[in-house]
Amino acid sequence: MRTSVEKRDLAHYPFLPEAQGLLASRGIKMAGLSGSTTGCSYLDRAADRIMLALNGKTVYPESEDDVVSDIITYVLARVLVSCTKDKRTIDRLCRMEAARVYAYFHAEENQLLKKRVCEELGLETGDGSLAVIRYVELASRVRDAKWRLINRDVLAGRVKVSADEMDVLIAERIRNILSCGLPLDIPEPILREYLPWSDKILSAVQERTLAEFGAIDESAYPPCIQSLISAAAAGVNLTHSGRFSMTAFLHNVGMNNEQIGGIFARSPDYNPDMTNYQVDHILTNEYTTPSCATMLTHGICVNKDRLCESVSHPLNYYRSKKKMLDKMRMRDEATAKKAEGSDGGDLGKEASED
Ligand code: SF4
Repeated sequence: MRTSVEKRDLAHYPFLPEAQGLLASRGIKMAGLSGSTTGCSYLDRAADRIMLALNGKTVYPESEDDVVSDIITYVLARVLVSCTKDKRTIDRLCRMEAARVYAYFHAEENQLLKKRVCEELGLETGDGSLAVIRYVELASRVRDAKWRLINRDVLAGRVKVSADEMDVLIAERIRNILSCGLPLDIPEPILREYLPWSDKILSAVQERTLAEFGAIDESAYPPCIQSLISAAAAGVNLTHSGRFSMTAFLHNVGMNNEQIGGIFARSPDYNPDMTNYQVDHILTNEYTTPSCATMLTHGICVNKDRLCESVSHPLNYYRSKKKMLDKMRMRDEATAKKAEGSDGGDLGKEASED
């Protein structure tokens, strides 16, 4: 028999089926939500929830007495990030939600509820061990030699784990569960209906990217990316890793899909539909620019310069180079102003002497 879960607990663990049941019992539907004041306020709160995640927060302030609102904003936040199709925003939301759920789980005193949550997460943790398959799935993402299966005690198909280690794995499982299935497949009418909210989120993402990297400065691109851009412009058919690295890098430094498409448009055999499809696909399914080590493995770390020796990631190269260039420009401007000032002084002197 299932442990009964209090209403307030459902806001803490909104992935429990009872939470979805509560929404269903209220007849709340995604379509048409923007047509009512209450629906709009749910969407606003869901967008705020995503903004908190973008700001790196791990706490979402729950309402005092409106559990339904807290659950629906959780669900809508997942829908809205899916509408944006922005992998980084999706990751941020998953990270925040996982940290939030884990904080409640960690502080939970109701052991029956803890057990119920673990069951829902597919974890039987009672005897301080996990099935090998589950252990490998969770521990493979934790970096440290002690987590490798070869370094563990395995008995009858189960891996022994201490209470502290179990906590780490539960946190990992929560993150897995919450990111599972994202982005959701959103029907076209909902995409259109929620556009004002998804656009607002994408603008915030763009703003944050620009604040992080400043205005886009092509002269600060690392040699690998410059080469990929030149090759694309010359009509060279780039490998998947080349296209992916270039697209992810340009997206990371703040270019939107159209601007990235514009880079590919420099190619003589440019096909807009194919390019848009590929750019969307890359940005939806993969996100982070590969590290220098990965670029090297794929044969696209080329024309290295001196700055390359001190970085391990193309984005770090970009940040450093941009800082250097900004400094040089400021110095040049100051020198030019000084020269203008001294010219003006001399002219003034000549004029007065005349
Ligand atoms: S070292 Fe890194 S930044 Fe430099 S060219 Fe290679 S991949 Fe690009």
